[in-house]
Amino acid sequence: MQITGVTQHHVSHQLADSFRPNWIPGYPQGSHEAEVFEIETDAGITGVTASPSFAGGLDYATPLSLFLQGEDPHDVEGIMRKLETVDLIGPRPWHLELALWDIIGKDAGKPVYELLGGCDDPIRAYASTGEVQPAEERIGYVEDRVDEGFEAVKLRIAERADLDVVRAVREAFPDLTLMVDANKGWAVRVMEDETQWSVAEAEAVARELADIGGIAWFEEPLPRHDYDGYARLRDAAAVPIAGGEFNGGPQELYEFLDRDAVDVLQPDAALVTGIKRAVEVAGAARNRGVRFVPHTWTNAIGFAANLHVMAAIGADWCEFPHDPPWTPEAWAAPIHGEFTATDGTVTPPKGPGLGIELDRDLLEGE
Ligand SMILES: [Mg+2]
Repeated sequence: MQITGVTQHHVSHQLADSFRPNWIPGYPQGSHEAEVFEIETDAGITGVTASPSFAGGLDYATPLSLFLQGEDPHDVEGIMRKLETVDLIGPRPWHLELALWDIIGKDAGKPVYELLGGCDDPIRAYASTGEVQPAEERIGYVEDRVDEGFEAVKLRIAERADLDVVRAVREAFPDLTLMVDANKGWAVRVMEDETQWSVAEAEAVARELADIGGIAWFEEPLPRHDYDGYARLRDAAAVPIAGGEFNGGPQELYEFLDRDAVDVLQPDAALVTGIKRAVEVAGAARNRGVRFVPHTWTNAIGFAANLHVMAAIGADWCEFPHDPPWTPEAWAAPIHGEFTATDGTVTPPKGPGLGIELDRDLLEGE
């Protein structure tokens, strides 16, 4: 089988209202954008993947075609070497590896998780918010998620004062597992810079979180390359420390592991690793007693890929993005249907490959 070409589509889906994600400080996001790629083969099988996009995105299907045409999509290692070159000269390319697995799975007639030795047992999901909101609104949101069966919610904080929201949610829901994400690993600095903390400031926040109690992890309290800072914080903190969702590639994740810098490693297959490297890194993490809980907040194609990884490795939590107007329907935009959580759990798609189908009407209306 040979790759014959790569087609790119820019997808933009209008949100019902403006969304103020913690990772784009000061910016009201009005739409969900994605770059969708189709890798075509001479066997008539097409693999799909997507990357997050912003402000119209970058078009790079032509150089990708040059690197990938003529390659066998089953040769994941060989193509990863080509993608390393793309990484040198262009946008980060790791999401393209997901399309190879979509082709391999469609060719075999099996879902990706099955090819990787996983099963379709339900995975516990936590409802993941994106905005910092006042306590009263957040408590109403959490009530809705608890009614749906979620047993854990991830809250966002930007400033130390936002701990008041975490405290209020804890008082209203004494038994709920809480994750707390400070989003200080990276930011889209189109309007404002994110507030950054010193290790000492992050330690002070971690102490307050330990007092609040029931905190599954404290996520991205420091910039993503400050491995030593993470290691010092992890040493001092009484709550688990998490990071690595948007680092530059697999080798940066081994920095976190080699320096004992995190309790929970969170690389997103669509952003950092691809599927094969995600499974490898998850094994290395397990050997060191580090949990592996991938970030999933991109779009439904990235979510599907991470879900196959979770099913393959037996992850203990799945991030389920849900913070209206960023609803499962909104982030599903590139595909038909949407992902749902049932009684606070999700299961990987059972169709061949990634198990998703592109929404052609949306692609044609681009
Ligand atoms: Mg995060």
